[in-house]
Amino acid sequence: MDLYEYQGKQYLARFGIPSSPGVLCNTVDEAQSRADDLGYPVVVKAQVKVGGRGKAGGIQLAADSEDVHRHAAAILGMDIKGYVVRRLWIEKASDIAREYYASFTLDRAVKLHLCMVSAKGGVDIEEVAATDPGAIARLHVDPVDGLSVTESAKLVAEAGLDEVARVQAADLLVKLYDCYVQGDCDLVEINPLILTTDGRVHALDAKVTLDDNAAFRHPEWGELGGSEELDARELLAKEKGLTYIGLSGSVGIIANGAGLAMSTLDVVNQVGGRAANFLDIGGGASADTMVSALEVINSDDAVRSIFVNIFGGITRVDEVANGVVEALRRVELRSPIVLRLDGTNAEEGRQILAGHLSDRIVVEDTMVGAARRAVAMAGSNR
Ligand code: GDP
Ligand code: MN
Repeated sequence: MDLYEYQGKQYLARFGIPSSPGVLCNTVDEAQSRADDLGYPVVVKAQVKVGGRGKAGGIQLAADSEDVHRHAAAILGMDIKGYVVRRLWIEKASDIAREYYASFTLDRAVKLHLCMVSAKGGVDIEEVAATDPGAIARLHVDPVDGLSVTESAKLVAEAGLDEVARVQAADLLVKLYDCYVQGDCDLVEINPLILTTDGRVHALDAKVTLDDNAAFRHPEWGELGGSEELDARELLAKEKGLTYIGLSGSVGIIANGAGLAMSTLDVVNQVGGRAANFLDIGGGASADTMVSALEVINSDDAVRSIFVNIFGGITRVDEVANGVVEALRRVELRSPIVLRLDGTNAEEGRQILAGHLSDRIVVEDTMVGAARRAVAMAGSNR
């Protein structure tokens, strides 16, 4: 789950990382009165889960109440890369001496955490990486060892941060590592991390991605309201405990196993179709799971056909077939369905389905054959 900037800063604050005081506002009036309380100058910041808000005009300095009115009115409702601004974060403006960059993420290739620090912050870090890779100091951190202040201080010096910022930055980096690990984040990024003209180092922006798989350890994450980013289909799927991601195509996908589900999406694409979703029913694939899966896909108006792709392993295909038959009894499908069943007990599975086939419920032998059929059905079923 990605957090908004203001939520990210609040999350960092739990681990002792400082930023400017601010308030969340929904309206222009609110922005004005809250800014009056904060004291000027302030920054009016669009809260959308996408970077580059500054370049898009979504970050504005305001010297007085009138400025806040003007900027808040302009930014609320603004479309930033497809995200409409609904909320503003009004923050006490910082006097910036320097803009740096700091982040932690997982480097999957080497199975270690990766810390990146740069004295060239405030700009697109991908661009720095492309044009001036030497400006980014990197350190791999073994999760068993953690990150010491000594290592952190070395990295900060290597990155060329100003002398006056180094002690604070090194300390902040260790806190950021704690936030990343103990806070169960996939990514923590501060860009820019600033040195103020009066010599303080703090976070001016924050990008925090929480690891959803750790949600069970964090009951407090519930209030972060991640569900607001989910569409109606995803909410329904979440309620039913399915691993579902909504997409924009017309072929509904059900597969067992994340790998097979992804391959299914690829094959549908290869034969000229577009998947309406990713849905992994996992190992169990009971009738209940199949009913839930079909219900969610059925709720999607864009779906024109459904492709059920099952490869029996530990889960036997005959069990899945029974689940499908039961599901067809319980859910009235709006779209035709193509099944491809292979693997353990595939023959038994096909026999179970045999009596239920029609021109709207068909079986295909191969994955690509089934994909073609589903795509063709999606095309003619408009
Ligand atoms: P982003 O464009 O989405 O990354 O938004 P940021 O929060 O990083 O802000 C973009 C830029 O706006 C920063 O790099 C700063 O240069 C500028 N900015 C943001 N807040 C302040 C502030 O309090 N004071 C000043 N002077 N500039 C700010
Ligand atoms: Mn930024």
